[in-house]
Amino acid sequence: MSDRIRYGGDYNPEQWPERVWDDDHRLFTEAGIDTLTVGVFSWSLTQPAEDTYDLTVLDRVLKRAAEEGRQVCLATGTAALPPWLAKKYPEVNRTDFEGRRHRYGQRHNFCPGSPVYRRLSTALAGRLAERYADHPALLAWHINNEYGGACYCDRCADAFRAWLRERHGTLDALNDAWWTTFWSHRYTDWDQIEPPSALTEHWRGPDHTAFQGLTLDYRRFMTDALLGCFTAEKEAIRAHDPHTPVTTNFMGMYRPLDYHRWAPHLDFASWDNYPPLGAPPTWPALAHDLMRGLKDGAPFWLMEQTPSTTACRDVNPLRRPGELRLATFQAIAHGADAALYFQLRASRGACEKYHGAVIGHAGRADTRVFREVAGLGHELAALGDATLGARTPARTALLFDWDSWWALETSDGPSRLVRYQDTVHAYYRAAREAGADVDVVPQTADLTPYDVVLAPVLHLVKGDLAARLEAVAERGGTVLATFLSGRADEHDRAFLTDVPGPLAPLMGVRVDEWDARPPEFVQSVRLGEFRAEARLVFEIVLERGAEPVGTYGTDFYAGTPAVTRNAFGRGEGWYVATDLDQPGVDHVVRRVLARHDLIGPYAGHPALETATRTAPDGTRLLFLLNHGREPARLTAHATATDLLTGRRTGAGEPLTLDPLGVVILSLPYPRPQQMRRPRSSGTPDLRKK
Ligand SMILES: [Zn+2]
Repeated sequence: MSDRIRYGGDYNPEQWPERVWDDDHRLFTEAGIDTLTVGVFSWSLTQPAEDTYDLTVLDRVLKRAAEEGRQVCLATGTAALPPWLAKKYPEVNRTDFEGRRHRYGQRHNFCPGSPVYRRLSTALAGRLAERYADHPALLAWHINNEYGGACYCDRCADAFRAWLRERHGTLDALNDAWWTTFWSHRYTDWDQIEPPSALTEHWRGPDHTAFQGLTLDYRRFMTDALLGCFTAEKEAIRAHDPHTPVTTNFMGMYRPLDYHRWAPHLDFASWDNYPPLGAPPTWPALAHDLMRGLKDGAPFWLMEQTPSTTACRDVNPLRRPGELRLATFQAIAHGADAALYFQLRASRGACEKYHGAVIGHAGRADTRVFREVAGLGHELAALGDATLGARTPARTALLFDWDSWWALETSDGPSRLVRYQDTVHAYYRAAREAGADVDVVPQTADLTPYDVVLAPVLHLVKGDLAARLEAVAERGGTVLATFLSGRADEHDRAFLTDVPGPLAPLMGVRVDEWDARPPEFVQSVRLGEFRAEARLVFEIVLERGAEPVGTYGTDFYAGTPAVTRNAFGRGEGWYVATDLDQPGVDHVVRRVLARHDLIGPYAGHPALETATRTAPDGTRLLFLLNHGREPARLTAHATATDLLTGRRTGAGEPLTLDPLGVVILSLPYPRPQQMRRPRSSGTPDLRKK
């Protein structure tokens, strides 16, 4: 097979007569498509009845793919139940947050605790693996699809209680972890524990709970319950196919599931990129970096993106000419070794018939979208293996923590308006727009490769993290934490010490009080000559060794510190005590990055994104992505060759990017002995398959 970025997408030929397949493959060849994701929603065909498997369609699909020189990412197809299964075994249907047992319908509709679902889904996965393990078209296994949601049925409640016994050991430990003496909740029997739902501890929806510790544990449990479905199918596959890499498609910053708990069980990470409407380019970039961080920086797959438009939103704008290409190269710049679409041919009916596709209902090759897809396919083919297996040599880490996300957004007080993703994104954006590469990593990550560690709204501090952050500063690094960081332990119990808890010695501050105000209230913050605005939460900081960098402008705490810097070892701890606006965050983060010489050479160009990857042969690749509608006129910082055009630019010479343009500069790397970080042993090299 070819050594190139995998290119293709979700393909559902089972919806079409075989004469259409001829057109499909002709068009795939025209577009440079080599990879087909097959079988994602095919359960009702592959198993039309409990005692009947019918793999004839998949046989033909894989045979045809192999004949055409294409490979298949083969799905187990267990994300949407067939009607017979739900009718025969109603227990497989989920019970929702309101306590309603659902009847058959939609997809992602199975109870993760159902033994019938487990038995039938693993049996199907095993059948597929038995039949196709040695098929020449098989490239990777795709288990289920976009795992998500939650179930609140009685069976899941029982499983939750068993999970709690495993986690807490005794009821005394559980009562202590959840602080149940509050509101007379001390449990004396495990059976008294109810899943946190609209019928029990919650009001006004999933974010309003009387017991955060209980709700946190249920989200962890549901993450594990769905993960159990994945690992069971993976085991069924492994019984017949010990080698082909296995994945499932994640959804980036998806709140319900803690993907860090899943990561060790995947052979490679993959995800579906559908950024919110109007999101800045740093939003999908953050999600890409989060996904890359799941497997210790190993390359991931962009499993889905739309070639043109989504269908699920109220309003579904088109990707403008050039936007698809730019978004695809952005994924590659952040670590993608595959770029796949949902979907290759548009569905004729049902709720995704207007979802964008490489091939529309008329089957034409002379559409703008098809031409852009094909142009990109040939460009990626020409790029060959230059970026495959490349790693990001980031010296800045951002801690991303699902527990903190859940705890922050279920917290009563100080402000419901603080949103985890927004604050994390603000700090990520500041670092990225300053030209720093950023690894987005869990609290448990090895922090020794990093000069700068950003910990925005890191509400829960777990394990030995505080000591490892102190070690970063001891050896000269900088750690930045913000308001509402370091507030509670893994159970969301407040630390019985000064805020910010275990981070206080490193930050050199003490916080006794915090003020929250409506969103229209603006507090001015003076950062030397620079003036920023702050909103929502204002922690009142007492200096305990730190020096003020910024001060509040108004109210009874006017003149007290809003931003501080603390000398610690050979490094520093920075504390931002309020929700600064983006210019304020930019100002602070750039000061931190500048201390470590981490401001990029093109940081002055706001529409220009840069990202670095180091190829396995040591070549350093600097991606330049112009998100602007105007040309970006740069001065080359080094002599380099653009991999896409072969054009060589000397240091100091003009370098112009078209609107939405992309350049991949190939740079000689000056210190070859330091050029690679160790690979994790579990990372498959898909090129060798
Ligand atoms: Zn259930």
